[in-house]
Amino acid sequence: MAERIRALDGLTIGKIAAGEVVERPAQVIKELVENSLDAEPTRIEVSIEQGGFMHMSVRDDGSGIEKDDLQLAIERHATSKLANAAALNEIHTLGFRGEALASIGAVSEMKVSSRVVDSDGFCIEVDAGVAGAVEPSAMDLGTTVEVRRIFYNVPARLAFQRRAATESARIVEVVVEHAMSHPRVSFRLHNDGREVLNVAACTEMEDRLYDLLGASSERLIELRSPPDDLDAPGEERWSGWISPPEVSRGRGDDVHVLVNGRPVSSQPMHEAIRRGYHTRLMVGRHPVALLRLDLPASEVDVNVHPTKREVRFAHSWRVLQRLERCIQHTLSSVSTQPGSHETLLGMEGIVPVSTQRRASSAAAATSGTAATSTPQWARTAGRQLSLDSLPVQEMLAQPDKNRPLSR
Ligand code: ADP
Ligand code: MG
Repeated sequence: MAERIRALDGLTIGKIAAGEVVERPAQVIKELVENSLDAEPTRIEVSIEQGGFMHMSVRDDGSGIEKDDLQLAIERHATSKLANAAALNEIHTLGFRGEALASIGAVSEMKVSSRVVDSDGFCIEVDAGVAGAVEPSAMDLGTTVEVRRIFYNVPARLAFQRRAATESARIVEVVVEHAMSHPRVSFRLHNDGREVLNVAACTEMEDRLYDLLGASSERLIELRSPPDDLDAPGEERWSGWISPPEVSRGRGDDVHVLVNGRPVSSQPMHEAIRRGYHTRLMVGRHPVALLRLDLPASEVDVNVHPTKREVRFAHSWRVLQRLERCIQHTLSSVSTQPGSHETLLGMEGIVPVSTQRRASSAAAATSGTAATSTPQWARTAGRQLSLDSLPVQEMLAQPDKNRPLSR
């Protein structure tokens, strides 16, 4: 006889839904960092143990969650960021689905602590989808989310997880891409008690690039639009930095794309980028780039994928064509010989990242604000510079990230 159909209970529904949003610890970190960024903090501190499988925490000094909202915050489809369905057409925050905290709480032991101005701090714990009571918590302004024993109640999911080292490396990438998108926020990341990233808040993107890419960022060239770009139809604008043709990587994972400030997968842009470099990039090679696309929020759909990693453009052909032309134009004034770096310095209109940075790092040295980030880029100074490795990734000792510069 056929099984009868029955409605699932809430805990099971939560577990199934969680499968889409939290596939791995790095996704938890992404969701929590996005929540922190939406709260407009000045700093974010991330800490992980054993690839996040043992423990993860994300702490910010943002606006916080009111005591009476704590219970709602951990419920599914509860969000402060969308008032109605129409708002889905124009998303201005990183989050909007109201799913992250509920999903994470469904598959771990999670504790959310928060304090808003003119109030004491409060916290709530969730164990495998079962919430406890709201309790007082002594803390500074802002929010801390701690996650322990992820997937302990979902053995099938746990069985398919990657090694802790692989997960830590991915988490570094997640924090780095959000640090790239928000230079005004300081970021710290601890991995098994060791500090692997510490970047001070800054006003100039160049400074943030220098802190994240080390001295290698000096080789990047600022993206320029062709003179007739403003006359072309469409309000989308590309800006950012790209590497000269002689600097390339075997994989496309140092192409960072921010759409209205949101880090997204760069995959859909690879073809346009390749065409922009034309024959100047060898087959199968990818540049190093930070590309920022700004366009009206109504012309991009971020609600395509549960993890918001993929976005859809209303005028995707035009947007990509524009990127191609910007790259082409930017490179048109750069010669291709290896070691042409010096010639870039004197070229009109091309401002190497380092020019601004030297001035500001000198200022920072006297004020002491850059002291903490010095060791990261100092490691890359004085030897063959390689854009193949982020200093922070080196610190995680990933041999495959340390390939020599190729051309
Ligand atoms: P979403 O981000 O899609 O709204 P989440 O489940 O990630 O959904 O978070 C639910 C709600 O909890 C958010 O809308 C926000 O109001 C609140 N919240 C979560 N994290 C933070 C944080 N770090 N600071 C302030 N508020 C937060
Ligand atoms: Mg969120």
